[in-house]
Amino acid sequence: MNAPNNNNLLAPLIDAEELYQNAPCGYLSFLPNGTIIKVNKTLLSWLSLTNEEVVSRMKFIDLIAKGGAIYYEMIFIPSIKMHGRLNEINLDIIKKDGSALPALVNSVAIIDKTQGLLAINATIFDITERKKYERELLRAKRAAENERKQFEYLANLIPDTIWTALPNGELDFVNDRFESHFDIGKNQVVSKSILTLLYPKDRKKFLKAWISAVRSGNDLVIEVRLRNQLNTYDWHLIRSIAHRGENGDVIKWFGSCTNINDQVLALERKDEFIQIASHELKTPITSLKAYNQLLLRSEASEKSRIFLKKSASTIANMEFLISSLLDVTRMYSSPLTIHFAPASLKDIIEQSVDLVSSNYTSHKIVTELRADKLIVNADKQRLTQVMVNLISNAIKYSPGKDSVVIKVSNNEGQNRVHVDVTDFGMGIPEKEIDQIFSKFYRVSDPKIDTKVSGLGLGLYITQNILKLHDSQIMVSSKINQGTTFSFSLPTI
Ligand code: ADP
Repeated sequence: MNAPNNNNLLAPLIDAEELYQNAPCGYLSFLPNGTIIKVNKTLLSWLSLTNEEVVSRMKFIDLIAKGGAIYYEMIFIPSIKMHGRLNEINLDIIKKDGSALPALVNSVAIIDKTQGLLAINATIFDITERKKYERELLRAKRAAENERKQFEYLANLIPDTIWTALPNGELDFVNDRFESHFDIGKNQVVSKSILTLLYPKDRKKFLKAWISAVRSGNDLVIEVRLRNQLNTYDWHLIRSIAHRGENGDVIKWFGSCTNINDQVLALERKDEFIQIASHELKTPITSLKAYNQLLLRSEASEKSRIFLKKSASTIANMEFLISSLLDVTRMYSSPLTIHFAPASLKDIIEQSVDLVSSNYTSHKIVTELRADKLIVNADKQRLTQVMVNLISNAIKYSPGKDSVVIKVSNNEGQNRVHVDVTDFGMGIPEKEIDQIFSKFYRVSDPKIDTKVSGLGLGLYITQNILKLHDSQIMVSSKINQGTTFSFSLPTI
C-alpha cells in the first residue's frame, strides 16, 4: 500500500485566494496597455484605495511616480517583452493621498502560445524601512567621510609627519609632510611600510618594539634613524598610540615621526666634549697625585702632612668624578666592559670602606658580615666602584648623622649574597625614587636639603654595572629617616 500523499490531503485546507489577498507583499496584474486587472488587499491597503477604484479603472502608470509613463514605455515593456521578467526595480508607488511608497517591484510576463504578451504579474515589496536604513547609512558614510577629510586636513596642517596604520601594523595613511620629508609617494608608503625608511642597523630594534606594541596594544616610543629626501639619515622620535574599539581591540594606530636629529647631535657633541675634557683633566690630576705622594714621603712637617692628606683626598675625589664622566660617555656608544673572575665580597667591601674613609672621616662605617658564602663571580674593580658609590652617597646624604651600616647576608637555601647599604639621613622623596637612576638626575625637592654637590651619575653607573652582573639595585627610603640601597649576587 502506498503512503498517503500529504500534499493531496492538505490541499483542500489551503485557501490560495486568502493567501494571495493577505500576503505580506502586494500583488498586481495588468494588461500590456497598463490596465490593472487584479490587485490584492495588501497593496490596496498600502494605497488606501478600494478594489473598485483600481481594477479596470486605473493603469499601472497611474500608480507610479512622475516620469513613470516614459519609464513604462521605454524600459519596462521592452524589457519584459525581451526577457519575460524584470526584477528588483525600485519604484515610488503613489498612494491615494499623493504620498509615495518606496517599493521594490518584480514583474513576470504572461505569454500566449505565440509568445505574445497577455499580461504582467507584479510582486511589490514595501521597502520604506530599507530606504530609511539606506538613508541613515548614507548619512553615516558622509559623516565618516567628513571626519576623514577633517583629520587629513589637520594632519596636513601639522608641521610633523603623521601616519596611521592598520591593527596589523601596515601603514594606511601618511600626511603630505611625511611624503615631502621622506620623498616617498603615498601609494609607495601605504603598500610598503616604515621599514623601508629605517637605517639598516635600527631595523631590528624597531621591529622588536613595533611587534611587541602591535601584540600588546601598548603605546610605542622609540628613537631611530630614518632616511630623508637627501638620502641621508636623521634621528626621529617615533610615537604611536592605539585607538581601540568598544571591545578593547585595536582599530587603528596613530603615529608621528618627530625629527630630533639636532638634539641628538647636540647630545653627542656634549658627550664628545665631556669625553675629551675628562681625558685632558686626567693627565694633570695624575701628576698632581704623584707630586702629592712625593711630598707626603718627604720630610714635611706634621701640619703640612694634614693639609697634604686633605689635598690627596680631594684629588681622589676628582679622579673618581672624572672616571664616572668617562664611563658615562663611553656607555653611550658601547656597554661597559666587565672582566669576570672569582672575587671575595668581603675584600671588595673592605677596600671600598678604606677608599671612602680616606675621603670622608665624619661617619663611622659599620660592616655587619652575616654571611658564610662570600665568593662571587664579578668584576672586582667595577663592584668596588658600586660599593664606593653607595657608601659615599650614604655619607654625603646623611650630614649630621654619625653612621652608615653595610649588611652582608646569605638567605637560607639560596646561593646568593645580599648587600644592604643603609644611612639615617635625609631620604629620597617617593615621587623621585624611580628617576634617581637616570643619567645626570639629582633630587630637586625644595623640602630636602640638597646642598651636597654631585653629577648625578653614580647611581646610573651603579645600576648599569649591576645589570651586567645580572643583578638589580633596589631602594627603600623614608624622608628624614634614611635610605637603604640593596643588591644581591649569586655566590660560587
Ligand atoms: P650624585 O650623588 O652625584 O648627585 P647619584 O647618581 O649618586 O649622583 O645620585 C643621584 C641622586 O639620588 C642624588 O643627587 C641624590 O639626590 C639621591 N641619592 C642618592 N643616594 C642617596 C642617599 N643615600 N640618600 C638620599 N638621597 C640619595
